[in-house]
Amino acid sequence: MAKQTVKDLDVQGKKVIVRVDFNVPLKDGVITNDNRIMAALPTINYLIENGAKVILMSHLGKVNHKDAEKTEADKKKNNMAPVAVRLGEVVDTKVSFVDATKGEVLEAAINELQNGEIVLMQNTRYEKGESKNDAELGAYWASLGELFVSDAFGSVHRAHASTVGIPTHLSSACGFLVEKEVSMLAKAVDTPARPFVAIIGGAKVSDKIAVVDNLLKKADKVIIGGGMAYTFMAAQGLAIGNSLVEADKVELAKEYLAKAGDKLVLPIDNVVADAFSNDANIKVVPNGAIEDGWMGLDIGPKSIELFKETLQGAKTVVWNGPMGVFELSNFASGTLEVCKAISNLPGATTVIGGGDSAAAAIQLGFKEKFTHISTGGGASLEYMEGKVLPGIAIIQEK
Ligand code: AMP
Repeated sequence: MAKQTVKDLDVQGKKVIVRVDFNVPLKDGVITNDNRIMAALPTINYLIENGAKVILMSHLGKVNHKDAEKTEADKKKNNMAPVAVRLGEVVDTKVSFVDATKGEVLEAAINELQNGEIVLMQNTRYEKGESKNDAELGAYWASLGELFVSDAFGSVHRAHASTVGIPTHLSSACGFLVEKEVSMLAKAVDTPARPFVAIIGGAKVSDKIAVVDNLLKKADKVIIGGGMAYTFMAAQGLAIGNSLVEADKVELAKEYLAKAGDKLVLPIDNVVADAFSNDANIKVVPNGAIEDGWMGLDIGPKSIELFKETLQGAKTVVWNGPMGVFELSNFASGTLEVCKAISNLPGATTVIGGGDSAAAAIQLGFKEKFTHISTGGGASLEYMEGKVLPGIAIIQEK
C-alpha cells in the first residue's frame, strides 16, 4: 500500500487523533461483543508505547437528528461510556472518557493528556454534522490534534467529518487494522492466485449486484447463493414462488447471465418452506419447481455438491453473504457446508467480507480457519465493487 502507515509518523509527544471503529453491539448498555475494540488495540498500543497523546473518536449506532425526542433516546442508547470502561480494562494506561464532542471540557481533557495516555471522546454521531462531513466540524476536530490515524476500517467507505473531514487538515496515516484489511482484500481481489472463486449470497440484491459485476471481471467463477439467487432465477424465467426477489433488478440479472456464460454458478435445487420459520413445513425441490406459497430459504444438497466442486482447487476465495437463512437451524446447512468447504481448501487464501457471513463463520466455529475475516462488511463490499474508499483515499501517500 502506498499510503503512509502509522509507523511513518513521528508520534512521540504528539496529539494523535485516531478514528477507530468502536461501533460495538450493546444490550441495555452492556457490550455483547468486544471484537471491534480488540481489533483496534495493535494501533492504540503502538501509539501508547511510542509516547503519543492518543485521542480516540468513533461512532456508535445511529443518532436521529430530525426529531428532538428521538435524538435524546438515541444518544442515551448509543453512549460511548461502556466502551471507555472496557477499553480501560484492556490497555495498560489511563483512559479518560469525555462525555462531549465539542467544547471546553473536551479541550481541557486533551490538553491535560500525558504522553502514552488516552482520551476517548463521546460518540461522533452526537454531532449532526458528522454524517454530512460538515466542513466546520471536521476543521474543529482536526484542531484538537496534530496527526491523524485512520483505523476504522468499518467506516472508511463513508465520507464523514471524522473519517474524511479531519485528515483534510492534518498529516495522516493508516493504522494497522486498515493496513491489514486493505492488503488482504487487495491480494485476494486485485492480484489473486488462481483459480479465484467468489461466492456471493445474502438478501440485499441491490447492495450486492454491483459486486457481482466487478467480480465477474476478476474471478474465474462467481457462485451466487442465498436470497440473491432468486432474482437470478426470476431472470431465467423460472418459478420462484414466494422467494425473495428484487423485481427492479431482474433486468440487470438477465444482462449478467447473458454476458457471464458458465462463469456464473447458480444453485440447482432449493430447500423451500411454507413460512419464514423453523417450524414451517419444508421440502427440497429443483429449480423451477417452487410453487406459490413456498419460498426458498436455503440451497439444496445438489447445490452444495455443485458449489463444492466449483470450489475444488481454488487458490483464492472471497465470500460475502450466507447461502440461506442460517439464523434458523433448518436453513443453515448450505452456509455451514460452504463454510466448511472453503475453510478446508489446501493452500488457498480465503477471505470473508464481513457482515453476516463473518457472523456465520464465527458462530459455526470456523473463525481460525480463514486467512482473513474482514471487520467491515460495507467497506469490504465497496472495495470488491472496485469503488474508491474515501476514508483511505484521503490519507497521505508515503
Ligand atoms: P446480507 O445482509 O445481504 O448479507 O443478507 C444476510 C441475510 O440474508 C441473513 O440474515 C440471511 O438470513 C438472509 N438470507 C439468506 N438467504 C436467504 C433467503 N433464501 N431468503 C431470505 N433471506 C435470506
